[in-house]
Amino acid sequence: MEIDTQRRDAGRRNTGSFTERDAMTPEKRAALNKKKKQRRRSKLIRVWINRAIALAVLALIIGLVVWGVKSLFFDKSQTSAYGLPDYVTEDYLKVNTYSRPKVPLLEVNNIVIHYTANPGTSATANRNYFNNLADQSGVENPTYASSNFIVGLEGEVIACVPIDEVAYASNNRNEDTISIETCHPDETGKFSDVTYASLVKLSAWLCNKYGLTGDDLIRHYDVTGKLCPLYYVENEEAWTQLKADVQTALEELQQSESTENGGE
Ligand SMILES: [Zn+2]
Repeated sequence: MEIDTQRRDAGRRNTGSFTERDAMTPEKRAALNKKKKQRRRSKLIRVWINRAIALAVLALIIGLVVWGVKSLFFDKSQTSAYGLPDYVTEDYLKVNTYSRPKVPLLEVNNIVIHYTANPGTSATANRNYFNNLADQSGVENPTYASSNFIVGLEGEVIACVPIDEVAYASNNRNEDTISIETCHPDETGKFSDVTYASLVKLSAWLCNKYGLTGDDLIRHYDVTGKLCPLYYVENEEAWTQLKADVQTALEELQQSESTENGGE
């Protein structure tokens, strides 16, 4: 009876005020602690993984926003409605009878080169001159003049009349050509090196766009016999060289484009 009572009491103790933990051996307790530590560690790892994912997503969002803003404001080739190269500044004339009639240019068979015949004047000044032709009310013999592009003394390029519109530059060839006015420092009409380089680059880009070659460059002189562009009328070899330089630039452009597209 004595033993039975002790057993009963022991049973009571086990299920009563004594916890399971209290009844554990030190080994079991250590194992339990270890498990708890592991659980805590894995929870901590999960928290850090979540934080890393959140950071990566944040970085991606910031990257996308920066890229979006950059392409909106800084990448002109993305924003030009005509797909013009980034060295061209688009400063189109207001639509008007005398310089920008908004007549569609339906085909491009040649690029016509001009000189301003106004030594030392800038591309902007010539562009503004064309733009101001809009206001000729009351003028008896109004001037009709413009150009698709003007290449300036510093090599800058201004687009004045969109490439899909007729400009008033090349007489009876206005309707199937793109015109380029070229600024020059003096009376000889010879283009400076930077102006020449930009003219070649722009001409090559246009040839590439319209499936033309360097030989499709013509002078205003070839249309009407006008001494324009003067230096390149008086110096036939300089004109031949200009066309050859455009052809070389065109081939380089096509080469670089085919490389970009993954070709040879
Ligand atoms: Zn001309």
